[in-house]
Amino acid sequence: MRVTICDVGPRDGLQNEPETLAPVVRAELVDRLAAAGLPRIETASFVRADAVPQMAGAEEVVAAIHRRKGTEYSGLALNQKGYDRLAAAGLDRVNFTLAATDSFSRRNANQSVEEAAAAAAGVIERAAVPVTLTISVAFGCPFEGRVDPDVVAELAARFTSAEVVLADTIGVATPRQVRHLVERTHAPGVHLHNTRNTGYANAVAALEAGATLFDASCGGLGGCPYAPRATGNIATEDLVYLLEGDGIETGVNLDALIETSVWLESLLGRRLEGQVYRAGPWAGTD
Ligand code: MG
Repeated sequence: MRVTICDVGPRDGLQNEPETLAPVVRAELVDRLAAAGLPRIETASFVRADAVPQMAGAEEVVAAIHRRKGTEYSGLALNQKGYDRLAAAGLDRVNFTLAATDSFSRRNANQSVEEAAAAAAGVIERAAVPVTLTISVAFGCPFEGRVDPDVVAELAARFTSAEVVLADTIGVATPRQVRHLVERTHAPGVHLHNTRNTGYANAVAALEAGATLFDASCGGLGGCPYAPRATGNIATEDLVYLLEGDGIETGVNLDALIETSVWLESLLGRRLEGQVYRAGPWAGTD
């Protein structure tokens, strides 16, 4: 069995870190991840630079990347304008994010869920590249609490032509909830956070429920919106270790990925959240 891991470190990871890295450094991170064999990398965010300064210069990041055959380079868009910029920059895939609750949608994208869903439908209809539709706060919302699975299932059902990813944006889900929602929606993808230490158990639950696409970030880069002291995305190398140990192919070179997180640690000057890059690989996994 083989799964696809999308490393979201250069976008979702760095967007939620205090440092702002220059576009050329973000491009180097993308290149290192591609060299480690990541089949998909979320490369840049096409949102307003004044709203998210960490993501300024998306076009510069894309221009500085050394494209590697076999790697799919995706980017984030929240509206048609963002998609147009992404398409002009020449990325391979658009990740269009849509929140499951109005409160989060208004805060994050300044539009209601219905407005965002209409924008997503428009992008899907016109896009010249494949579309991933990430439903954020699919399990819990910082403003509205627990999210009704009926609401998420209804949203997911509207976008059968896109690749749907269920996102536990604030890291509150537990394995049974993840299992049930993946089974119910048949969503191929999950975006999990380890904010409350359930991220890896949730990944296993999603896998067993049929998910084949996993977002993760090298070193566990990223934070949790609305929980400033908490950790963010599950770490890619920790997920690779877990999956490969269980005989599930990822195509990722764990040693090269660990080297990337070690490089990131020295670049940022602090310990990252991931554990495997510190513990190291283990020969017994072969
Ligand atoms: Mg995230």
